Formats: sequence, structure tokens, C-alpha cells
Amino acid sequence: MIDISSNVENILYLISAALFIIGIKRLASPATARTGNRLSAIAMLIAIVITVVKYTETNIEWIIVGLIIGAFIGVILSKYVQMTAMPQLVAIFNSFGGAASAIVAMYAVMYPSGPESTTFILASVAFATIVGSITLTGSFIAFGKLQEVISTKPLLLPIRNFINIVLLISILVFSVLLCLPETSDVSYLYIIVGLSLVVGILIVIPIGGADMPVVVALLNSYSGIAGAGAGFVLGNPVLIISGSLVGASGLILTRIMTKAMNRSLLNVMLGGFGAEEGSSGSNEEETRPVTSLTSEDAAMILGYAESVIFVPGYGLAVAQAQHQINELSGLLKEKGISVKFAIHPVAGRMPGHMNVLLAEANVPYDELKDLDEINSEFERTDVAVVVGANDVTNPSARTDTSSPIYGMPILNVDKAKSVIVLKRSMASGFSGVQNELFLLDKTNMLFGDAKDSVEGMVKEVRDLD
Ligand code: NDP
Repeated sequence: MIDISSNVENILYLISAALFIIGIKRLASPATARTGNRLSAIAMLIAIVITVVKYTETNIEWIIVGLIIGAFIGVILSKYVQMTAMPQLVAIFNSFGGAASAIVAMYAVMYPSGPESTTFILASVAFATIVGSITLTGSFIAFGKLQEVISTKPLLLPIRNFINIVLLISILVFSVLLCLPETSDVSYLYIIVGLSLVVGILIVIPIGGADMPVVVALLNSYSGIAGAGAGFVLGNPVLIISGSLVGASGLILTRIMTKAMNRSLLNVMLGGFGAEEGSSGSNEEETRPVTSLTSEDAAMILGYAESVIFVPGYGLAVAQAQHQINELSGLLKEKGISVKFAIHPVAGRMPGHMNVLLAEANVPYDELKDLDEINSEFERTDVAVVVGANDVTNPSARTDTSSPIYGMPILNVDKAKSVIVLKRSMASGFSGVQNELFLLDKTNMLFGDAKDSVEGMVKEVRDLD
């Protein structure tokens, strides 16, 4: 243990907390997101170093080994995990975050070092342990569903809400027993952990794969809240501040996602989405006739247009066609054609997925238009080019009350004068719903991997005089 004055410690923690706040603020725009990420990483490094240096009495070499192994795994994951697998990765991180907070909080009761724990500290321990344990198992189930190692279908146990209520009341009772000086006993803590781990499984298992990214955002918030709880146990301001930031931003993100899907959080958490009998959601492939064209035909249509809107979706991320799309857009602009990109808030598999991909390919930010901004422009647009998007363009979300995506605001692609859809087959999108857009007279399907199709269009547009 190195003796650092508490003034120096507090100043360094304050710098760390300020960097976290500036970092998260800068994440709000693709232009500043990279520096935001770096500032937050520096903040985390300062927080770790100051804590390790100040509070480690023995075995510092083990902590250094742990830091090196952890940093190595982090670097490997950041290099090799696909963007499309990011929700799973976040789920695993949340899981570890929840577990870490629960362990830190429990340690304070299992191995008390100072004077006897006050009721406030014990309440903080119970809180961090409950939220951390629920986050641990809930996030593991979310990971399993997203990775499809367990069924993505909602598993609806009979009387599940009753079981959850009984478990939550039991957790509350044992927490009160732990906190009261007359009854306090460490064995209650073990019971609380066990019950909370079960609750984590039970609240996520009935939720279908389609809602999993929302659940991951919510569990992200939980992991932050658990961290803030552990911060109260340790009296560590930087943990309280960073945990609260994660908790609040996770909640805001959850709200943005549920709003974009026109669902309430309660509706998501009660589960069952995608399991309804008689809904028009089906994973059967569409067999009705559609009009298809070649890259050459598509290039001709674009060549005659005055205005084009690209509508990217999950397929753009799978095909990694963002650079080719930017190239195509550049060629069209050189020909005096107006080009815009319509960004749906839940296109892809995580919020901001399309913005990140297009920013990576240097598509100018001012060409990215969000749903409210662009929707009125489709009817004045000559060609809408849908690149691997499906659900976010499905007009049945407006009218088919039996559809699982009924009520979700969609991009008005069907209002454009003509539509070209790039996808590999007539398979449905994430929600398993067929898309009537593909059957319209004005729609032409360009089948194939989006990257190959756009490459073909780039070549043909270049050859147009
Ligand atoms: P969808 O999942 O609806 O459709 C993607 C389409 O891309 C598929 O129909 C697929 O068709 C096509 N595709 C896949 N790979 C390729 C490829 N290599 N080349 C060309 N096409 C390809 O995606 P959307 O972006 O339209 O909608 C997102 C969905 O995810 C919504 O239902 C949304 O609610 C859900 N969701 C999104 C969240 C978010 O935060 N972004 C969060 C929670 C849910 P085919 O196989 O025929 O090629």
C-alpha cells in the first residue's frame, strides 16, 4: 500500500469522474465519439491505478497479472468481434459488471475490516448484491439468446409472474433481516444472492430474441446501478459517479429503443413477443411473385433519377457494404443527383448501428437523416434504395393490427416513386414478418449479397455516359 494523501486521491478521482462525464457527452455524435471513448478509457485507467496503488496491501503482482490478462482479452475482443455481434459482447460485459459489483459489496460484509457496518452500508450491500446478481444471470441468458446457443423463442412458464413476485418479496424480507442490527447475519446474504440469480434467469427467459437488444440496454443500466451501490459500500465517489452515469444512460437508451419500436418497457419485460398465436409473424419464405432486376438495370434507373434516398438496414452490416455505398453515393452526386441516407433508430441490431457503419465509410454526417426528418421526403423522391433493410420499411406496421411490429414507426419507403431492394432472398427480417413493400408494382428486387450488388451498381453507374 502506497501512502497517497486523501487530497491527491480525491483530486485524481475528481479528474477521472470529469473525464467520464466529458467522454459520455462526446459519444453523442459520431464526429466526437472516438475521442469520447478514449477519454473514458483514460478515466477508467486513472480510477483503477489510484485504487490499486492506494488500497492494495499485499499481492499487488496478482492484480497486475489480472490487469494484463484483462487488457489482453479486451484488445482481442475489440479487434475480432463483428459489429453485428456487439449486443452479445455488451451482454457479457454487463454480466461481469454485475458480478463484480455484487462480489465487492458482499466482501464488505463477509470480511469486514473497519468498525461494524451501519444499516446504511448493509442496505447498500443488499442493493448492490441483488441488482448485480440479477444482472449476472439475466445478461448470461440474453447472451445465450442473442448468440442462439439457447432458444430465441420466449419461454413462458406458467404462473411466472406469481413466482417472480414471491421471489422478490422473499428477497426484500431477507434484505430487511440483513440490515436490522438485531437480526443481521451473513447467511441472509447468501440466500439473497441465490434468489436474485434465479430472478435474473426468470425475468429474461420469457423475452423473445427480437427484444433482446432492449433487454441488454436495460441490464446495462442495472450493471451501472449495481456499481453505484458498490460505490456507496466502499465510500468511493468515482464508482458512485460512473455507476450512476451508466445507470442513467442505459435507461435513456432503453427508452429510445422502446419508443422507436412503439413498445412500452412493461410490454417488453412481461415477455412473449413473437410467441403470439395467429399473429402474422411467420418465418416462412414469401412465394408470391416479385419483380427482380440486375445491377445494370438498377444503375440505369439511378442514372435517370434526380433524387435518391438510401435506406440501410441490418443486411448492410452483414455484407459490410458501407464503403461501396459511399462510393456509389459519390458517383451519383457527381452526376448532380441529390443523395440522402434515411436512418431508422432501430435499423440493424443496436442503436446507432447504421450511423457507426456509415461514419466508418466517411459518409458525410449531414447526409444522414433520421426518421422524422426524412419521412416526408420519400413521396418527392425518385428512387429509394433499400440496402439490407426489412422490418424498418414494412408498411404493414401501419395497418396490420395482428402484426408483431404493428405501431412501430417505419420509413415511408413505399411512398417513393420507385424502389430498389437489395437482399439475398425473400426471407423475412428480424421479427419474422413478411414485407408487402417487396410485392408493390413500383418495387424491384436486386437479389444477392448487398456488397456484391452495390459493387455491380458502382461499375455500371461509372460506365453510364
Ligand atoms: P431486418 O432484420 O428486418 O432485415 C434485414 C434484412 O437484411 C433481412 O431481411 C435479410 O434478408 C437482409 N440481409 C442479411 N444479410 C444480407 C446480405 N449479406 N446482403 C443483403 N441483404 C442481407 O433489419 P432492419 O435493419 O430492417 O430492422 C432491424 C430489426 O431489428 C427490427 O425488427 C428492429 O426492431 C430489431 N431490433 C433492432 C434493435 C436496434 O437497436 N437496432 C434493437 C432491437 C431490435 P436476406 O436474408 O434475404 O438477405
